[in-house]
Amino acid sequence: MIEKKDQKNFKPKMATIESNTSQQKNQCQLTQREQQNQKLSRRMKKIKHKIAIISGKGGVGKSTIAANLAMAFAAKGYENKVGILDADITGPCIPKILGVRNQKLLGGPPGLFPATGPYGMKVASMDYLLPTDESPVIWRGPLKMRAIQQFLSDIVWGNLDFLFIDLPPGTGDEPLSVMQLLPELDGVIIVTIPSEVSQMVVKKAVTFSRQLKIPIIGILENMSGFVCPHCGEQTAIFSVGGGEKISKDLSVPFLGKIPIDPEICQDSDKGVSFIVAHPNSTASKEFAKIVEKIEKFLSK
Ligand code: ADP
Repeated sequence: MIEKKDQKNFKPKMATIESNTSQQKNQCQLTQREQQNQKLSRRMKKIKHKIAIISGKGGVGKSTIAANLAMAFAAKGYENKVGILDADITGPCIPKILGVRNQKLLGGPPGLFPATGPYGMKVASMDYLLPTDESPVIWRGPLKMRAIQQFLSDIVWGNLDFLFIDLPPGTGDEPLSVMQLLPELDGVIIVTIPSEVSQMVVKKAVTFSRQLKIPIIGILENMSGFVCPHCGEQTAIFSVGGGEKISKDLSVPFLGKIPIDPEICQDSDKGVSFIVAHPNSTASKEFAKIVEKIEKFLSK
């Protein structure tokens, strides 16, 4: 039985034991975190340029643009030197667009090996880790952050010239995680469609990048007009020029316009590389010009 007068002394002792244990636990967690950070930094040092693709809203074609840009780089003399991380944890679709869903991330002593896409592109995605097509990922922010950290540090990316990171729409957990984990990011490409609704949310993506001090490589207008393949008439389905206008208003470089092209959608669904299958299309030519602008930005 502890005397009342001794209780005063007893409590601090208990508190000391508890705090010692939690200190050890914290230290252990710290060491683990440090190790993970060191691993991430080692892997990322081998990649010359890292570019994130973001958008204010969903459905503007961000993943389609990310996959085709990565492909356009790989096709332009960067064979085996391009990687793409599908950081859309809850809605991964890059493997489908690149036609490499049938592969797996294989484990080995140095880590997980990415899937291999066209032109030797390295591909990593949550899609490879889900048991079925119907399996949803129901995770809160910290888990998503950990998954992204692991994708960056545990995947054996090897020596690459470019890593494209396809982020989910908006300014939520995943974009924030990538920006925090990769302060050396070369910059972001913001995808929008010309409509005023999309322009409105692009402003948020611009402010988000500026607040986090991440360079903005430029705004890219997708679904910019539609040319009827039968009569050649141009129709501004989501209007045209909104991306250019918002770029001027916000003093952000404008990268270019990709029109609506039914072949883009069909090729993505089939997992066929659009720019390879339709090299003479307006969209493919525009992709090539955008690649040049990005290269110019990176060479500054
Ligand atoms: P997000 O990543 O912004 O949610 P996606 O890349 O998944 O959007 O694109 C949404 C849909 O629009 C897909 O079916 C895609 O094939 C289609 N799409 C995207 N860009 C174009 C385009 N320029 N022309 C035709 N279809 C497109």
